[in-house]
Amino acid sequence: MTAKELREKFIQFFQEKGHAVIKSASLIPENDPTVLFTTAGMHPLVPYLMGEKHPMGTRLTDAQKCLRTGDIDEVGDDAHLTFFEMLGNWSLGDYFKKEAIANSYEFLTSPKWLGLDPDRLAFSVFAGDEHAPRDMESYELWRSMGVPEEKIFFLPRENNWWGPAGITGPCGPDTEMFIDTGKEKCCPECSPACDCGKYLEIWNDVFMEYNKTAEGDYEPLEQKNVDTGMGLERTICILQGKSSVYDTDLFLPLLEKIEALSGKRYGETEEITRAMRIVADHIRSAVFLLGDDRAVTPSNVDQGYVLRRLIRRAIRFGMQLGMAEGFTPEVAEVVVSQYQDAYDELTRHRDFIMDELKKEEGRFQRTLRQGLREFEKVVGRLKDGKEIDGISAFHLYDTFGFPIEMTVELAKEKGLTVDVEGFEEAFKEHQKKSQAGAEQRFKGGLADQTEETARLHTATHLLHAALRHYLGDE
Ligand code: ATP
Ligand code: MG
Ligand code: MG
Ligand code: MG
Repeated sequence: MTAKELREKFIQFFQEKGHAVIKSASLIPENDPTVLFTTAGMHPLVPYLMGEKHPMGTRLTDAQKCLRTGDIDEVGDDAHLTFFEMLGNWSLGDYFKKEAIANSYEFLTSPKWLGLDPDRLAFSVFAGDEHAPRDMESYELWRSMGVPEEKIFFLPRENNWWGPAGITGPCGPDTEMFIDTGKEKCCPECSPACDCGKYLEIWNDVFMEYNKTAEGDYEPLEQKNVDTGMGLERTICILQGKSSVYDTDLFLPLLEKIEALSGKRYGETEEITRAMRIVADHIRSAVFLLGDDRAVTPSNVDQGYVLRRLIRRAIRFGMQLGMAEGFTPEVAEVVVSQYQDAYDELTRHRDFIMDELKKEEGRFQRTLRQGLREFEKVVGRLKDGKEIDGISAFHLYDTFGFPIEMTVELAKEKGLTVDVEGFEEAFKEHQKKSQAGAEQRFKGGLADQTEETARLHTATHLLHAALRHYLGDE
């Protein structure tokens, strides 16, 4: 089965179960300024989970584009990506646990759908605590599907509870589905809660059934909802018999392109493998951000900063692999052609995507080598110390366009740390100065500064100071 077929099968299955198909929302949340990106299928549906009527009814299904920058450090392992697709189905006060669990089990195991061997599956349900009861109902429902008891794990709140932490609102237990990879148990208590890699989480069914009151009580919700999310990349990895999401048909053409551009072989060494995975993942995310109808462009704030970080990190690892300047649009072309059927916005915005990548790569490549040399100098000056000071980190950011996270990462590779607080102070100090002197918009360009723009920046600063003096503001 290809990833495209899995996407279609999922939607078709839930369509047959009476769900209306909705389109993936933007990666940039439209009505929620509190978060930068859409991180789950349920995110764009929050108003409807809270009770608002959805125009398409009470049963919905889709494939949602998601971005989790919080997982960036895991990228390169077998299961985590920054951009991924979440297949989802929802009941807005319609069916509840019984149908949700029966549907999940049928889709996973029926030969007509995924046909996974039930022996390879494992499940987790909420163990209960002083606030909310053990979710025996979900347990019994899995049992009624024929799941043996030793395949169902009772796990605590941190694993099997969904809901806004510490605040009021809808919440409830969830039940997760895992692939048992067949690896040895890491310890007698080995469970899907371990990070040992024996269990791979593929799907999560969330049951919103309580409302947490201001007093901290859990009262039953009037509208009980189901919200599920299945990872497309992880599931296709299992269906294709691979051990990592990067070895699936979604990534192979990308990795082949990276091999051709670098002259290195995927799998040659652990380091090369990880670098190639990072390049593939980050360029893919960048393409989806630039190709979104609510497009993001590289900048120093909010979503633009994350995009810049992704592109620049890809460039750094690409350079390590020996890829020549200008590689980002070439890799991006593969992403666009791969997703053109499922996400037509990528084709519509193709020129924009390539153009922005080219520009951002140009900006960074110009200063990257010099910046790395500067970084080595800073390290050389450390003598016995283990920490890079904030001013130096700021200098790398301001003059060479190194996102602070990158300096931290470079330092970590050498067993060093960075004074991030000191960096922030230096950053604020600089901002204060430039705010006093220059227009707000000049802040947007700080990390891009070549010497020339730095001079321009100073000149503008002086010009504004002179103007204010002339106008009697100072
Ligand atoms: P994990 O514990 O593996 O980090 P999660 O519990 O954070 O996953 P959920 O928030 O439950 O994941 O999201 C639902 C599904 O989305 C997961 O079961 C998984 O299949 C998929 N998924 C989550 N994060 C990622 C990621 N970074 N890359 C690829 N797929 C992911
Ligand atoms: Mg996670
Ligand atoms: Mg999890
Ligand atoms: Mg989960």
